[in-house]
Amino acid sequence: MHNQHIHSITIVGAGTMGNGIAHVCAMAGFPVKLMDSSEEQLRMALQTIEKNLTRMAEKQKIKPIEVGASLARIQTFTDTKQAVSGADMVLEVVPEQLSLKKQIWSQIEQGIDSKRLKQTIFATNTSSISISELAEGITHPENMIGMHFFNPVPVMSLVEIILGNKTSEQTFKTVESLTSELGKTPIRVHDFPGFVSNRILMPMINEAIYALHEGVAEKEAIDQVMTLGMAHPMGPLRLADFIGLDVCLNIMNVLHKGFQDDKYTPCPLLREMVDNGHLGNKTGQGFYIYEV
Ligand code: NAD
Repeated sequence: MHNQHIHSITIVGAGTMGNGIAHVCAMAGFPVKLMDSSEEQLRMALQTIEKNLTRMAEKQKIKPIEVGASLARIQTFTDTKQAVSGADMVLEVVPEQLSLKKQIWSQIEQGIDSKRLKQTIFATNTSSISISELAEGITHPENMIGMHFFNPVPVMSLVEIILGNKTSEQTFKTVESLTSELGKTPIRVHDFPGFVSNRILMPMINEAIYALHEGVAEKEAIDQVMTLGMAHPMGPLRLADFIGLDVCLNIMNVLHKGFQDDKYTPCPLLREMVDNGHLGNKTGQGFYIYEV
């Protein structure tokens, strides 16, 4: 399948996920406009992309010439209008806050020529916000879709493609074929809290935290049960640290509120750790200790 529609991609937000998405889009041959409100984030994103591409070349996953060629396809911007004008697709990868995302989507729309608005695809990498809700304020909600990549983006092959209640089948088909062109596997899902990935993953992590909290076993033992017994590459507590305990709590709250079901109540130990600023790898302490 070859997508006929998307020739250039604008990515808004150049953090952990934005730089990974820019990396795979550029490597697949697309011109990328990478936008962030912070110059420093853009500088760091380019450094990370170069480092990761170089590592792939060293491992002979790509040809050395592709490192420079991919980097040359990425242009950086701090101005939204400049970054989005002329884009066939805008992918929003800013922090997980509904009000921020809504504000950015309205800026993105304002930056696009009104004649092009109807044919522009609007994708969001949100992990937990409803696609239908995000699409409420925009002129062409049929063009809005969830494109949920996984961290680290250059390594993980899944993209959950989430249809909001107004997303058109044509938008889905275009994004589905684009995902394949990026070398990823698209999976079609509907707009329910946590989609599929977090609806299954987060309650498992939360349950592992309950097991620790109630003294069922030590943290290493809980993780080993899942790595050795279930062949998970990483135990749930270590994975929670890697994801960020604040992110885990936030997603449990989304599930709890979205389904109005107490089976999604976040474990008190998770709340306590977040309240104490122990957020996992990024703060140096979560269930385990890390160097920061
Ligand atoms: P991040 O904090 O690493 O990056 C966000 C970037 O957005 C930062 O560089 C920030 O400077 C930029 N930004 C903030 N306000 C902006 C604005 N007004 N205009 C332009 N740029 C702005 O966050 P992240 O981890 O990359 O997460 C981004 C999105 O991806 C979130 O919706 C998150 O839920 C989702 N997500 C994250 C992961 C993950 O593992 N980190 C996995 C899947 C999905």
